[in-house]
Amino acid sequence: MLTVMDALPAGLTDCEPKEVPEVLSGPTLIHLPGQADSPIFVSILLHGNEITGLLAMQRILKYYRNRELPRSLSLFVGNVRAAGAGKRMLPGQPDYNRIWSSGTTPEHDMTREILERMRRVNPVACIDIHNNTGRNPMYTVVARRERAHLSLASRFSKKVVYATNPDTTCSAAFSELCPAVAVESGLPGEPEGIDAVVRYVSAGLELPDPIHHVEFDIDLFHTVAVVKVAPSRTCGPVGEDVDLELDPTIERHNFKEIPPGTRLGWVRTNDPGLIEVQQYEPATSESWLQIQDGELTVARTVMPAMLTSDPDIIKWDCLCYLMERLQ
Ligand SMILES: [Zn+2]
Repeated sequence: MLTVMDALPAGLTDCEPKEVPEVLSGPTLIHLPGQADSPIFVSILLHGNEITGLLAMQRILKYYRNRELPRSLSLFVGNVRAAGAGKRMLPGQPDYNRIWSSGTTPEHDMTREILERMRRVNPVACIDIHNNTGRNPMYTVVARRERAHLSLASRFSKKVVYATNPDTTCSAAFSELCPAVAVESGLPGEPEGIDAVVRYVSAGLELPDPIHHVEFDIDLFHTVAVVKVAPSRTCGPVGEDVDLELDPTIERHNFKEIPPGTRLGWVRTNDPGLIEVQQYEPATSESWLQIQDGELTVARTVMPAMLTSDPDIIKWDCLCYLMERLQ
């Protein structure tokens, strides 16, 4: 299902996100030569509605239309069909950022082929560009705490999340080959996010070979748990007939340490299995969340990320991740 090209297909730099399927027939890996041989791998549209990566790369590629790239670029355009529909993914498709480990689907075969091809050309870095669905600051996610990975991350934002789960993401797989980050560039299509990604990838293309890793000053967080709503249960805004009514202002808690007792929503069911907290660390005796007097609150000081009030995202992914600061 993978198409490999060694030139930019006509129309890619000018199309609207929903027109990508008119330019590409499906997932496509495009190798573009530059002065420095070892490429930067950039991945966009793994989630079809997360358009900032495409809009930023269009701007960069237009700039370099009649100029030589300072460094080779391997651009992967992921879920083309979902981009055409403006959706994260289509019914029946796997999540394209959960297919980068061993598996038996055609999508797993595709990611295995990409990793094999990229291994042969010695990438200097992997930048996988995403958007958030809720209000979050811009940040990066790394799967390794080594200096090169943190240095690469620090060039985008001071906020860096160290997450070893899920381990089926693009950036986690590339961490075996080179410094790798997932970039979370705010809400889809926001101008500040596009500007930040253009600056980041442009600077990456101009890094010397071999890359020297700068001193960095970062705030490093570690994801300790993911919070899900039981698939059999419903959630939504206050006033709807759902099992969990979400506080409309919860997204403001993202990347803030919130104290015990902070309310996330109101519970309208007696099901003790309403909320599923999957811990990544060996389980501690303390719990993270509690349900008391019909309210869902946090039980101890914690920092949420990707906390969302969007019922679809909660169903597909999660209510939020919980993080702790790492020294
Ligand atoms: Zn994404």
